[in-house]
Amino acid sequence: KKYEELAELDKKHFFHPSTSFRQQKAEGPGFIFTEGKGIYLKDIRGREVIDSLSSLWNVNIGHGREELAIAAMEQMKKLAYSSTFATNSHEPVIRLAAKIAEMAPGDLNYTFFTCGGSESNDTAFKTARYYWKMKGYKNKTKIISRGKSYHGVSIGASPATGLFPFRDFPGLSQDHLYVDSSIEALKEMIEREGAENIAAIISEPVQGSGGVNLPPSQNFFKEVREICDQNDILFIADEVINGFYRTGKNFGIDNFDVVPDMMAIAKGITSGYAPLGGVVFTDRLKDELTELTEGNFYHGYTYSGHNTACAVALKNLEIIEQEKLNENVNLMGAELLKGFKYLEQTHEEIGNIRQIGLLGAIEIFKDRETKTTFEEPVSLKVVEEALKHNMIGRAIVYEGQDTIAFAPPFCITKDEVEKMISIIDTSLTAVKQRL
Ligand code: PLP
Repeated sequence: KKYEELAELDKKHFFHPSTSFRQQKAEGPGFIFTEGKGIYLKDIRGREVIDSLSSLWNVNIGHGREELAIAAMEQMKKLAYSSTFATNSHEPVIRLAAKIAEMAPGDLNYTFFTCGGSESNDTAFKTARYYWKMKGYKNKTKIISRGKSYHGVSIGASPATGLFPFRDFPGLSQDHLYVDSSIEALKEMIEREGAENIAAIISEPVQGSGGVNLPPSQNFFKEVREICDQNDILFIADEVINGFYRTGKNFGIDNFDVVPDMMAIAKGITSGYAPLGGVVFTDRLKDELTELTEGNFYHGYTYSGHNTACAVALKNLEIIEQEKLNENVNLMGAELLKGFKYLEQTHEEIGNIRQIGLLGAIEIFKDRETKTTFEEPVSLKVVEEALKHNMIGRAIVYEGQDTIAFAPPFCITKDEVEKMISIIDTSLTAVKQRL
């Protein structure tokens, strides 16, 4: 009864993000979540489901960690919020910035805080353009991003997103270019557009929403870095999903031994227990900006470095280290890969399996030899079927793909990995019978 009441109100008043208006209007909320524990979520009708994507690739520590609630409460009781504008500061933000510097590669030691990934990328783009302007360039404003990339939905981040549906909105900036994952194409683009017009290149080290795509080669980002250095272009790593151990290393870019000029972070920094993001800058960039900037740098969000969010982030990172959940990412990542291999052997439709840490995907093909996909994406049906077996899965069907992505919480056990794989196995078998 409570579900019905809330469902009616939801349909009338709650404008859902990334929604199909029609579906929302017709069906109302699929789940009204009330509780979570580890990899499980519970809804108001008592149903318990596996959260195979850590919600939105972010609840890394797992659901229901009381220590984080206590950290938030203790901070809120003392000082829930105070400004960080100009010279104001507070202990949680200082300690968190220092912690990020300790974790980040190279001389990435200086963090600006935001409330999430889109704001982080906006900040990175804005700062890159500002930097080049202060260095005397008139039009060094274009941002290059990769096909199938996802960088968020703000006015700045939407047009940087390579995935078409997210940037199919009127009035977005024209200062964005999309390049295939090839060094040759990147070089040609820079030649054509002129390096003096390009501010930055942004890339997820391992793409998330675009289908969990690893770079085309182990050397790819080293080459991108070199091209950036040769052409006076800044390199931004979007670590919003990868950062904070998701790929088994501190940051995704650590897998490729490259130090970017800026790193956008969010999601895993608090495991979703509070909204927080940031941009980490190198000392070199910080020193140059300090040198170049006369007067104030007029950029800052009310909630930049929110006291409570920072306290939660610190506790989150502390627990992940103490409980060695970061090491579990690699152990369970190996189990996930084992499961993918089993699925690949059992189902001739499955191919292109990929895994790095607890980030992985399988692809479904009509003919995996020729990489021909089905006319209608099968992954959507598999995920629908998996729901009957109490698992929320994530199908990725943009741009002709037919992919199922996995990014479970770091606390997942071997048995739970096997359960996820077994649900996919059963669900795909059932779907195939109906094809
Ligand atoms: N960048 C990447 C790589 C992401 O995956 C996301 C969100 O999924 C974003 C940016 C945007 O972050 P937010 O939704 O917190 O604005």
